[in-house]
Amino acid sequence: MLHRVRLAPVQLDAYREVAPESQVEELAELGRQLQGLRVAHINATPYGGGVSELLRSSVALECGLGLAVDWLVISGDSRFFEVTKALHNGLQGASFVSTADVEEIYLLNNRANAATIPSDYDIIVVHDPQPAAIRAFAPRLGARWVWRCHIDTSEPDPAAEAFLLPWLEGYDVLVFTLTDFVLPALRGGTVEIFPPGIDPLSPKNLPLSASLCRRIVSWYGVDNQRPLMVQVSRFDPWKDPLGVIRVFRRAREQVPGLQLALIGAMALDDPEGWRIYEQVRSEAEQDSDILVGTNLTGISFVEVNAFQHCAWVVVQKSRREGFGLVVSEALWKETPVVAGRSGGITLQMADGEGGYLVDPDDEETFTERVIELLRNRELARRIGLLGRQRVRERFLVTRYVADELQLFARLISTGEGIDTGGTAS
Ligand code: UDP
Repeated sequence: MLHRVRLAPVQLDAYREVAPESQVEELAELGRQLQGLRVAHINATPYGGGVSELLRSSVALECGLGLAVDWLVISGDSRFFEVTKALHNGLQGASFVSTADVEEIYLLNNRANAATIPSDYDIIVVHDPQPAAIRAFAPRLGARWVWRCHIDTSEPDPAAEAFLLPWLEGYDVLVFTLTDFVLPALRGGTVEIFPPGIDPLSPKNLPLSASLCRRIVSWYGVDNQRPLMVQVSRFDPWKDPLGVIRVFRRAREQVPGLQLALIGAMALDDPEGWRIYEQVRSEAEQDSDILVGTNLTGISFVEVNAFQHCAWVVVQKSRREGFGLVVSEALWKETPVVAGRSGGITLQMADGEGGYLVDPDDEETFTERVIELLRNRELARRIGLLGRQRVRERFLVTRYVADELQLFARLISTGEGIDTGGTAS
């Protein structure tokens, strides 16, 4: 069963002070062109993780521009989310085994959700692999269908790719974050490429005073007199939180007093997160310089903002990363980042512009870069400032929505992708 997430529309004018003027003007024009367009976005979770962040902000802005947009979230049983997390991992390169059971669980849940699409839409955007098969089971709605992939599918396990491909057949357009991410079997076909962006109006990214930020992180146990390293991310093997702890311990040998905050949200569609969280927590229990905070211990948007603001250095030690909104979020606060040279992170920053990109498995170099930024505060400040400028031009939600609306305009004006009905029953 699909559930609608209710959001208050956000007016374009609210972005005039923060976003580049060219983006705001482009959105105003697209809004005039697409008034009343009926759009549904379908994904797997209303909170936790980048896709829900992006939808929260982009849907509110699309509504504010005058489109009639619904955000619909699928439901599924626990076995479904185990299957879809395994599929997610398989598409990012982990080994994946498809069995009759796995397929049945995936399809049963998708079919049940498809049966509850609440009304007619002009465009339906399905996000990520979890709900991808909805298109095949949907009634013969006269909509254009878009599949929006947010993960790194450049080197999938062949079994995971083979599992997903049939369910993508009925889509009019497939959208990826990077050209490199296009599934091997789809290369050479028609795809669209554009990356996500962060919302400067979210409480997570609003400018907060330094003193307020310090008071917030201090409440969680940070000593503001000592250096602080932060990673904000789900507890996910691809984001390597245990590797972050190793890097932290090496860096602390050179920078006495260093503290680490690992901030992570638990998402509805991520059962694996709990297992990794337990491992991280047991490491932290033996080390009073490591702080672990989650949405379960009160961490919310403003707290994430404060931690990203107060960090001397933010790290993102991802081995695979679809985009990694957290990188742009940190840079927006002018905090430099040391990150794995992975996927969408490489778009957001370059060496010396925002921070440093490092092979995530080279923990020695990773540690050296962290230490460099901890020791040289003036360098860190300059690099962080350049990072913010890059994010303002290229990675705000205004640019993302403009790209998405350009796509909608093309889809409806060219008659591309006239509905051919479901491919399964
Ligand atoms: N996030 C949060 N609280 C947390 C941890 C993460 O609000 O404790 C947010 C984070 O600020 C970011 C999103 O969750 O906006 C994670 O998105 P990202 O693209 O970095 O990674 P994903 O989880 O989608 O792989």
